Amino acid sequence: MRRVLVAGNWKMHKVPSEARVWFAELKRLLPPLESEAAVLPAFPILPAAKEVLSGTQVAYGAQDVSSHREGAYTGEVSARMLKDLGCRYAIVGHSERRRYHGETDALVAEKARRLLEEGLTPILCVGEPLEVRERGEAVPYTLAQLGGSLEGVSPPGPEDLVIAYEPVWAIGTGRNATPEDAEAMHQALRQALAERYGEGFAQRVRILYGGSVNPQNFADLLSMPNVDGGLVGGASLELPSFLALLRLAG
Ligand code: 13P
Repeated sequence: MRRVLVAGNWKMHKVPSEARVWFAELKRLLPPLESEAAVLPAFPILPAAKEVLSGTQVAYGAQDVSSHREGAYTGEVSARMLKDLGCRYAIVGHSERRRYHGETDALVAEKARRLLEEGLTPILCVGEPLEVRERGEAVPYTLAQLGGSLEGVSPPGPEDLVIAYEPVWAIGTGRNATPEDAEAMHQALRQALAERYGEGFAQRVRILYGGSVNPQNFADLLSMPNVDGGLVGGASLELPSFLALLRLAG
């Protein structure tokens, strides 16, 4: 019912010329997939993605978007620009944006609305820092973040929204959430989505896990009924490990 999505968040890695070669290699080596593959490189790489990946099975998208539609916003990139570059997705609310750029739930919701206006799918990230998990408050904290980040956000259908649960303490640390902890959080998130958008919607919306996903731990995470794929940082940068993740997703 939910097609598995493996999305590579490249963060601030690779330059356009390197990415172009990588995309061409991916295209050459890509196995037939039932699941969906996506790459989310930095903005300057998106034209290379459009050139090489258009018409392939691999979708692509951005790591952020402006909360404004257009105008005098120096340094910002609009949803309409991303649409023109052929993006299907954009991440909003990644913990690195929340932490280093002070992004609030309200701003994240605004960005998600801009994407939906242009027919792009937000990959909306939520997740708790370590001290919150240690206090035993991971679920209420993350659900509050989800609620705030979806304020006024009305996706036309369940395919038009992706949620990513990324516990902050698992990102780039080599310490992933256990499959059971991820599953418990994903269940709680799906329940909250059911309350907001209805049960039918919630059953079809994809909830990805992110945080130190690699080819060694991905199968166990994916075996959980409410884990619908991965938002992968480090392990998406090298072609062999990205391909290994895609093969595990099937
Ligand atoms: P890592 O897979 O490198 O832990 O990064 C996860 C992440 O932040 C994806 O958005």
